[in-house]
Amino acid sequence: MSLNVVIFGAPGSGKGTQSIMIAEKFGLKHLSTGDLLRAEQEKGSELGQKIAGFTSQGNLVPDALIIDMLANVLDEQPADTGFIFDGFPRTVAQAQALKEMLAKRNKGVSIMLDLMVDEKELVERLLNRGLTSGRADDNEETIQRRIQVYHSKTAPVKDFYKQEGLSTDIAGSGAIDEIFARICAAIETV
Ligand code: ADP
Repeated sequence: MSLNVVIFGAPGSGKGTQSIMIAEKFGLKHLSTGDLLRAEQEKGSELGQKIAGFTSQGNLVPDALIIDMLANVLDEQPADTGFIFDGFPRTVAQAQALKEMLAKRNKGVSIMLDLMVDEKELVERLLNRGLTSGRADDNEETIQRRIQVYHSKTAPVKDFYKQEGLSTDIAGSGAIDEIFARICAAIETV
């Protein structure tokens, strides 16, 4: 049975940074919907322009588009691949779709890690990132909107995984290596 990890948390909680380290240590394929969406936008395609209309405002991209995109990527991977899902699922509908997509492959989510960080620290991290990231969504107004959307649409995903007995809280403040050690300890219990 392959290891499938969902990394969860607010914008700026460190999902991307930790995902790269987790993928390397546990030999998982890193799937970041944010990265996939940015790659599409960089192509300047019609789809990319449509996506930018949502992301630049701090709004979520519609579920159907995200689920299709993810299903296509999953289909391209060898059957025994384990994954780290980063930035997905972000709605309960996406969590249900992921469950079905993995079930079709006789798989399931092994653990969901919730990176917990204070809101004040989130905003500071994102504003700092905005100074160098060049990301159109790392500005004060869009950051506030992303956090608001996180509370209304994404936070309920945690209850979904709690009900499945898969949710684990990870203290997300401190040094990157310390946080990574907490994550590894949690994954090793699977
Ligand atoms: P962050 O978690 O720091 O906000 P991401 O790179 O994960 O950054 O996502 C950037 C933007 O891409 C989100 O604000 C949202 O507009 C869009 N996005 C990413 N993943 C999803 C998803 N699973 N469903 C809907 N929209 C998404």
